[in-house]
Amino acid sequence: MAAKPKRHVIVGAGTAAINAIRTLRQLGDKGEIHLVSKEPPYSRMVLPYYLDQSISEARTTTATPRQLMDWQVTAKFGRQAVALDTKAAKLKLDNDEELEYDDLLIATGSTAVRPPISGADDPTLFNFWTLADAQGVNRYINPAGRAVMVGAGFIAFTILDGMIHRSGNLSLVEAEPRILPRMVDETGARIVHHWLESKGVELLTGARLTSVGQNGARHVLAFAGREDLEADTVVFATGIRPNLEWLNGSGIKINQAIVVDDNLKSSTPNVYAAGDVAEGKNLITGEKEVHAIEPTAMEHGRVVGANMAGKKVKYPGSLLMNIVSVAGLNVASFGSWEDADAEVIAKADEGRSAYRKYLFKKGKMVGAIMTGPHRETWSENDLGMIKGLVQSGASLEPWMEFLREHPFTIKKPYLATRTVKSLLPQTVLGSPTPAPRS
Ligand SMILES: Cc1cc2nc3c(=O)[nH]c(=O)nc-3n(C[C@H](O)[C@H](O)[C@H](O)COP(=O)(O)OP(=O)(O)OC[C@H]3O[C@@H](n4cnc5c(N)ncnc54)[C@H](O)[C@@H]3O)c2cc1C
Repeated sequence: MAAKPKRHVIVGAGTAAINAIRTLRQLGDKGEIHLVSKEPPYSRMVLPYYLDQSISEARTTTATPRQLMDWQVTAKFGRQAVALDTKAAKLKLDNDEELEYDDLLIATGSTAVRPPISGADDPTLFNFWTLADAQGVNRYINPAGRAVMVGAGFIAFTILDGMIHRSGNLSLVEAEPRILPRMVDETGARIVHHWLESKGVELLTGARLTSVGQNGARHVLAFAGREDLEADTVVFATGIRPNLEWLNGSGIKINQAIVVDDNLKSSTPNVYAAGDVAEGKNLITGEKEVHAIEPTAMEHGRVVGANMAGKKVKYPGSLLMNIVSVAGLNVASFGSWEDADAEVIAKADEGRSAYRKYLFKKGKMVGAIMTGPHRETWSENDLGMIKGLVQSGASLEPWMEFLREHPFTIKKPYLATRTVKSLLPQTVLGSPTPAPRS
């Protein structure tokens, strides 16, 4: 008698989930796939391009109904998982329906959070995390009005070009003494700050928002120790938290997020976690960390898909990287860019808005920060090469003297260490990821 097909249940339809499904089918897995998600499949990472109007809403979709049919996925959208019984291997949904599983992937991503201050819960203020948020900002933003973004971290910077493009007048407020406090160091932040000011963006740092009120149709933002700001559109980019509340009582081990092993299994062996909800291995340090970024969600999804398909694939770890382009300036950081014990080579050419900071341990580049104008080819190329050197762990010992003297000439050590060649076989499944079809 033929064995009963395996029943895979996947919760969430973001990057991690869709990559797991694609991988399951690419590897020829014939099991049933049941997909449950609050929202339909789309990419949050492309929402900034929807805001700046370079793509239509339809282009944010990552799996069309036709694609899901081809993959033989039974999908329930607009449904939420509310509880997990790991002993009985059953998932409970918000309509009381129960789904049994042989294995389960938790890929429920994160939710945007606002500061706990008076007026911040006003529904006419926006986050920019979901498609619904983006639709709201798109409808509401006024090219003749003033927009204020609260928070000047990585996510704020991903939508900055769109906000500059769509609003007549833009201010960025940040509670910390400088912008991008968790993405670049002080020198990097200063370069980006000056660049943005030269493009007409107002930046208020050390500005702690205390309440949001109303003056007619306008919002009034009050701060500790400084003047109020009035705005027509307010967008919060003040952080995210992983969607884990529904796992209370499940017995799954949670630290900052779901703790996973090298195969991305949780403390319950037939339950996997991937993407923003998983606390997995950091490629550089080996420590368990949450990397709420797209490449990690994609790679996690691929590795879980392979493991669900019966392959014992281990994940080498995720490289922390934040790359943004704002008003024509590339800004990026990779790996352990804050490591106080590392050997540092740094050089800033503030007149050209160019900065390089490399951090080394035992002759290997473990972290880096870079800025440089997008229009200059060297800046564009360096970005990829610096990422490659951190990712590959190539020995740069013979090149330390050279880099100290020529920190802007990364190409020579990159080519000499044959970094491209060493990275080619390093795809998570040992073979290149085929381009998605839909
Ligand atoms: C505007 C924006 C720009 C970004 N830009 C970048 C970038 O340039 N580079 C980068 O690396 N990263 C970027 N990111 C971050 C990146 O998009 C996330 O890290 C990535 O989406 C995480 O994928 P995920 O699959 O873990 O979760 P998500 O993509 O968040 O998907 C989670 C899914 O779970 C569903 N869900 C949640 N709770 C439940 C529940 N209880 N039951 C059922 N379903 C549920 C959701 O509806 C959703 O479908 C950006 C994010 C945003 C918002």
